[in-house]
Amino acid sequence: MSEATTTGSGIPAESDEYSLTVGPGGPTALHDHYVVQKMQHFNRERVPERVVHAKGSGAHGYFEVTEDVTWFTRAHFLGEVGRRTPMFARFSTVAGEQGYADTVRDPRGFALKFYTDEGNFDMVGNNTPVFFVRDASKFQDFIHSQKRLPDTGLRDNNMQWDFWTLSPESAHQVAVLMSDRGTPRTLRNMNGYSSHTYSTVNANGERFWVKWHFKAVQGVENFTDAEAKAMTAQDPDFHRRDLHAAIAAGDHPEWRLEIQVMPFEEAADYRFNPFDLTKVWPHSDYEAVQVGRMVLDRNPANFFAEVEQAGFSPANLVPGTGLSPDKMLMGRIFSYHDTHLHRIGANYEQLPINAPRVEVHSYNKDAPMAYRHSGAQPVYAPNSYGGPEADAQRAGAVAWSVEAGEMGRYAYEKHADDDDFGQAGTLYREVMSDTDRDNLVTNIVGHASDHVNDEVQLRVIAYWSSVDPALGSRIAAGLGKTTDGDAFHEAAKLVESRSNRA
Ligand code: NDP
Repeated sequence: MSEATTTGSGIPAESDEYSLTVGPGGPTALHDHYVVQKMQHFNRERVPERVVHAKGSGAHGYFEVTEDVTWFTRAHFLGEVGRRTPMFARFSTVAGEQGYADTVRDPRGFALKFYTDEGNFDMVGNNTPVFFVRDASKFQDFIHSQKRLPDTGLRDNNMQWDFWTLSPESAHQVAVLMSDRGTPRTLRNMNGYSSHTYSTVNANGERFWVKWHFKAVQGVENFTDAEAKAMTAQDPDFHRRDLHAAIAAGDHPEWRLEIQVMPFEEAADYRFNPFDLTKVWPHSDYEAVQVGRMVLDRNPANFFAEVEQAGFSPANLVPGTGLSPDKMLMGRIFSYHDTHLHRIGANYEQLPINAPRVEVHSYNKDAPMAYRHSGAQPVYAPNSYGGPEADAQRAGAVAWSVEAGEMGRYAYEKHADDDDFGQAGTLYREVMSDTDRDNLVTNIVGHASDHVNDEVQLRVIAYWSSVDPALGSRIAAGLGKTTDGDAFHEAAKLVESRSNRA
């Protein structure tokens, strides 16, 4: 026999099917608290949807160290070959809402939580190594341009290209997005990147700048634009279904962690500003060091509790790991925790999916739905009654010095080869195959033909011509536009005036 239904307070319920009425045709009684509470709870079932990365899929697994990397970090979870750390991963689209199709063109979030012995370490990455903007002040505008128009509630390619062409630092990321990497075949067939530069410190206090790369052991595989669109119609939940089915069938996806390591002192004179999120560090400059492997081997038992309530924050950096002067990263340190406080609640870190597997000793207290309490511990520091005390040695934060100047709003310090279009051009000319290039052109032309006005289309051509003249010509031909009139020259001047050139 199954269990008896109860109220939320555990009291046996009278009926699963009938409201309390006065006679069979009489009015419903307000004091039928069981039915009333059912309605009230139902009305409150949703937490606010994430503003970005609303639709996600997640899985549990572990990270295992395969190489000795103690020469560049003292992080305990990376401290010994064979050491395993339990973890949770959530992959997501960026712009679409909860019910949006999985296979639309978009970057994919690649958020990881490592439950380490020194607290939670989160890597909130993407499946692309770079990003659209490099200053946190532009992030909200960028996202607005990817979302919906205020009057019609429609998504709008015109505002996307308007923003991108007026923000040429986006060219590298848009080149990846418009390539077939913008439509991954499955979540198992994409790489994950920290994108940002982070730092590490070893047991001797030596510091390094690092970039994290999670390489899909299954290989990178993408849909063409046509295949992605067909799948959008066939199964909007295809990626979620695929990940779940693979893990359920024992086909556990795996990623190899490789880290690029830059000695601390080399940042100042490196040919690219190493903290500019729109740039990679070419592998010929900093080869990837093998670190370990991440395996996802367990599906969530409850989607809401594990995937929806999961809250990741790039501020979660354990001893031996740290930040960098990347201004986007600095902004995210504030905004991720803040959005979880709003979306899930002040005590979101106490929920099982977010709670660390180590004891928490904190002077933060109370607030809605507080579950973990400190008992009779003092509620202030310093105190003379045995409350916890901070230990800078254990914290192992990574610091760096800056040449202080006048307070102001500055562009990134320009290094020798910094150019908004340069690395996108390298990708197009030196990394992509002929098929990749053909598909890139088809994808850009298709996207920029769809409700994009003439003026913005001319800027689209100028933007890609700056990445590569031949690419620009192919896009002009695809859009049926000439590039010898005054209107094009004006458009090109505008794009150029907003860009950062080597
Ligand atoms: P490499 O030839 O050493 O590396 C090229 C990288 O490009 C590989 O990591 C590969 O990732 C990735 N790649 C391959 N095909 C595509 C594609 N169609 N779209 C996007 N990325 C692709 O060259 P460099 O390190 O000198 O970098 C050259 C360019 O490659 C960069 O300007 C950048 O655009 C791109 N790139 C570089 C990365 C880096 O961290 N250095 C990372 C990703 C892209 P994989 O092996 O996983 O297939």
